Amino acid sequence: MKAVYKSGFLIAYLYFFLICNGFAQQVQQRPARCATGNVMEEYFKKYPRDKAVFEKNQSEFQLKYEAVRRAGKEIPVQQRVSGIINIPVVVHIVMDNPALVTDAQVQSQIDVLNADYAGANADSVNIPAAFKSFFGKSNLRFCLAQRSPSNEPTNGINRKVSSATSIPGAGDPVKYSTMGGSDAWDVNRYLNIWVCKMSRDVDLGYSFMPGLTGLASADLGLVNAYHAFGTIGSATAPFNKGRTATHEIGHFFNLWHIWGANECEESCADSDFVDDTPNQYKCTFDTPLFPTTDNCTPTAPGIMFMNFMDYVDDAAMCMFTAGQAARMEMALSTFPELMPLLTSNGCVPPVLFNYDVKAWAVQSPVNSTVYCGTSVTPQLRISNLGALTLTSVQLNVEIDGAPPVVTQVNLNLPSLQETVISGNPVNTGTGQHVIRMYTTLPNGNADMRPVNDTAEMVFSVAGNVEGPLKEGFESNVFPPQNWGVANNSDIISYNPARVTPAAHTGTASMKFDNYHYQLFGKYAMLVSPQVAIPLSADSVKITFWRAAAQYSSAHSDTLEVLFSADCGQTYTSVYKKAGADLKTRRDFLTAEYVPVAEEWVADTIDISTLVKGRYDKIMVQFRNINGYGSNVIYLDDIHIYSRTLPPVLKERGYLIAPNPTTGMFVIQHYPSTSALKGVAVYSSTGQLVWKGSYASSLAPDYIPVNLSYMASGVYIVRLVYTDKTITEKIVKIN
Ligand SMILES: [Zn+2]
Repeated sequence: MKAVYKSGFLIAYLYFFLICNGFAQQVQQRPARCATGNVMEEYFKKYPRDKAVFEKNQSEFQLKYEAVRRAGKEIPVQQRVSGIINIPVVVHIVMDNPALVTDAQVQSQIDVLNADYAGANADSVNIPAAFKSFFGKSNLRFCLAQRSPSNEPTNGINRKVSSATSIPGAGDPVKYSTMGGSDAWDVNRYLNIWVCKMSRDVDLGYSFMPGLTGLASADLGLVNAYHAFGTIGSATAPFNKGRTATHEIGHFFNLWHIWGANECEESCADSDFVDDTPNQYKCTFDTPLFPTTDNCTPTAPGIMFMNFMDYVDDAAMCMFTAGQAARMEMALSTFPELMPLLTSNGCVPPVLFNYDVKAWAVQSPVNSTVYCGTSVTPQLRISNLGALTLTSVQLNVEIDGAPPVVTQVNLNLPSLQETVISGNPVNTGTGQHVIRMYTTLPNGNADMRPVNDTAEMVFSVAGNVEGPLKEGFESNVFPPQNWGVANNSDIISYNPARVTPAAHTGTASMKFDNYHYQLFGKYAMLVSPQVAIPLSADSVKITFWRAAAQYSSAHSDTLEVLFSADCGQTYTSVYKKAGADLKTRRDFLTAEYVPVAEEWVADTIDISTLVKGRYDKIMVQFRNINGYGSNVIYLDDIHIYSRTLPPVLKERGYLIAPNPTTGMFVIQHYPSTSALKGVAVYSSTGQLVWKGSYASSLAPDYIPVNLSYMASGVYIVRLVYTDKTITEKIVKIN
């Protein structure tokens, strides 16, 4: 699914530029208004077998439609369907700030739909006299869902904080929680509308047309740009009259664009398969003057550009025709994916129980952070779905299945209102835990719908260790003891994971999976224990090995390393690499990445100046930031350590130790020096037994010398600098 979505997106994108380049230049930055034409075309390219089925379904529909239309000329139009049909609507607002689209703005859109579909829109007075007799008034009406799929009361508005944007087509991220979107409510009971930002600003929305038997039901419904939704708030002129949704729902109920079933091509040969719309050459933009004629309809009254299924500005469109209204009603009673809407009870509020508390979600602790310490304060977001004001409830908190800690909570929560309740702090150990919270005894009575009383969350608590800390992820336990994992999507499994056999050393490493999780901008993190660092340390470093691949130049994930000196309250960023800087595999890779040995690269981060002498413990966070599912990032052999130098080394600038030695000793310099050119070790008889030359290279700060194969006795160490020579004795013992 991943590869299909990615290549599909790229193809659609290229295709747009290839076929529309001339067109785009002509209309410059005009919104294309509607991506439906492209979406259908792309879908058929990808699933050619579905095209044949679609065409068969459509031609069967057309026969039935034309038969009824012929009959309709003799029998009352009202007999097409019996009575008003109320379509339950759920509006998913998927945005960084979904509160931007208020309940009132959503209601303004529903009001527009009800006016437009009833032919009760005030601006229908603008319909030219020559077209008045074609004015269509359908029996379709819309309500915001009054009951959820599980028959709880709802306002039919579902907000989701997410930076996911709509990529028109099958598998649109805004329609899938696995990609940061909001999952469709039961499409047999609701018309789903996703309000969001479009990936291409020129699109205002799209909907699949009915008859696509291969389309996932989760894709059914329409997508509507947040700035072209409703009539107030974020709605922006000239698309602030709610007509994008009117238009897209037309597609949802099987209307084609008024100029024909193509993407704005110039042709009189094609049709919208409706008998009372004038033939039209191509799409119309802006606010044309009446009458407008074209190649297909060269005489007045000309084309019906004020039809909801053209591309004119919101204020310039004001009608469906009777033929279109009949076509939509018939689609609703013909296509299997639409018919169940006829009998949905989604517009009917459920009868409330007296005592019904709903647990929405655990508010604390959460999986988006790693905790530090020994206890957490549990918080639960609840609604009073009962008919009576909620005055008390018991909050039960279980950690890892242990007996619950119970808190009696007194409150004053009216029916259908929401709040957050807190329990007494509960003790936790380090590591990853499951916290389960449930409410009992609302107002001292049994809850009459216990199925919605429980919410769960996973969270991690980091521990404390002495430094240095080495972690190679070889143990089966993950996160490793005293480490924590977290992510800020609502998908727990996006947390980093241990993986075999990819490894720099040993058989295991850890991975951030941006391949299966396309959660743009969402982070996942691995957090170290608090590592004790002596205040006397002279240097503090983090080293680790990484391996990463890039999916394409357009997909860029980020790895950031941060440290905290206050138990995770605040973090300081000390390393950040993304895209081409991050990758260690040379070539792009569209398959899931598994590194080979030579693709492991070491990083060293020197945080001495930020830490030494200031902090006595630090936590280190390795943070992955998802770039729309690029590929997998692996980490291994993490080492967090400090070094405290002997005072004599700092004082003299060099140190030869240990002395006496049983074999190994080390020549150290501090600070680093470029003046050291040679080291020679002589026996007491003057024989050269070891030498190092640094005439053409920088001498290391740390030079190990091995005398273990030499006899016991006194040896002479000579350090030759550009400006001096130092000679010291060292004693070898057994
Ligand atoms: Zn359209």
